[in-house]
Amino acid sequence: MFDDSQGMKTNLSELGEFGLIEHLTRSFSPKLTSTIKAIGDDAAVLNFENKYTIVTTDLLVEGVHFDLAYMPLKHLGYKAVMVNASDVYAMNAKATQITVSIAVSNRFPVEALEELYAGIQLAAKLYNIDVVGGDTTSSTSGLLISITALGVADKDDVVLRSGAKPNDLLVVTGDLGAAYMGLQVLEREKQVFKANPNAQPDLDQYTYLIERQLKPEARKDIPPMLKELGVKPTSMIDISDGLSSEVIHICKNSQVGANLYEDKIPLDPAVISVCEEFDINSTTIALSGGEDYELLFTVSQEDYDKIKANPNLTVIGHMTEEEEGMHLITRANTKIPLIARGWNSMEDKNKKNED
Ligand code: ADP
Ligand code: MG
Repeated sequence: MFDDSQGMKTNLSELGEFGLIEHLTRSFSPKLTSTIKAIGDDAAVLNFENKYTIVTTDLLVEGVHFDLAYMPLKHLGYKAVMVNASDVYAMNAKATQITVSIAVSNRFPVEALEELYAGIQLAAKLYNIDVVGGDTTSSTSGLLISITALGVADKDDVVLRSGAKPNDLLVVTGDLGAAYMGLQVLEREKQVFKANPNAQPDLDQYTYLIERQLKPEARKDIPPMLKELGVKPTSMIDISDGLSSEVIHICKNSQVGANLYEDKIPLDPAVISVCEEFDINSTTIALSGGEDYELLFTVSQEDYDKIKANPNLTVIGHMTEEEEGMHLITRANTKIPLIARGWNSMEDKNKKNED
């Protein structure tokens, strides 16, 4: 994991706004041929020729979306890029450029922002994304980060949420629930630390969960992989709010229903064991946990043979006529209506399911 920088504390006022921008962005140099002009003018200039341009933006607010008590700033910068890149990949597109805007209170020294930008730069490098601009301003309390991501896709490749058809297969990448359980582990450690600042946390067995929370990886690999397999999804979305709410988004946008099979939902063994420890139902966590940044998509039945052996992909259900509704088929073979639980409605998550 990343190191936290310690020691030096340079007040933001020593650099001033322009000095700060210069300081934070001087090592960003554009790599992509589509970036004509990056940082340093009134606006960036990009050239996607005759392809479709994808644009998406997200705002992260301290105390709402992240807690600096356990989120190192370098991780925050990395994650902020991932959150946006994931939305671009969910369009079956390639993420190419980002702009980064920050509002920051003067309780943050320059070194803290250097950490944030080190995370942004690392993510940009690993995901082949150019940082082409942003804005910098002060805030009276806390830190806000807004990232806008741009991407590109061939016109025929773009996948919307609205194309799913009855009988299409519902497919998910990776595994679900780990990021949410990582957050539970970190929250618990924060409480332990508050009670006893000398307590040494032993988090070894939770490494995968904590990494999924603090350093998520967006599925850059999936759009090219699908292309190679000769599969164009009929609809796609990224999983930021939990499987249940994303299935519902696809269904509503495509005017179809869905049957989702509980026993097919991919869970890492670490999620299963931590759910036992916390006495939480792991299906509930996969359905409503969120922050997985995996992709959920639908494909025609005819494509089944092309995806069935792929270790990255799991078929978890199928689409139905809209009138049939949206259901979870449990292990006990009962049918439960899917309900959307977004980011602010997690209160009953800790209650165990009674099936
Ligand atoms: P303007 O006055 O036109 O808003 P700025 O002085 O804010 O210009 O920005 C100068 C350049 O630095 C622009 O290219 C802008 O996109 C970039 N920039 C400003 N803040 C940031 C930031 N936090 N991260 C990355 N680039 C930034
Ligand atoms: Mg500006």
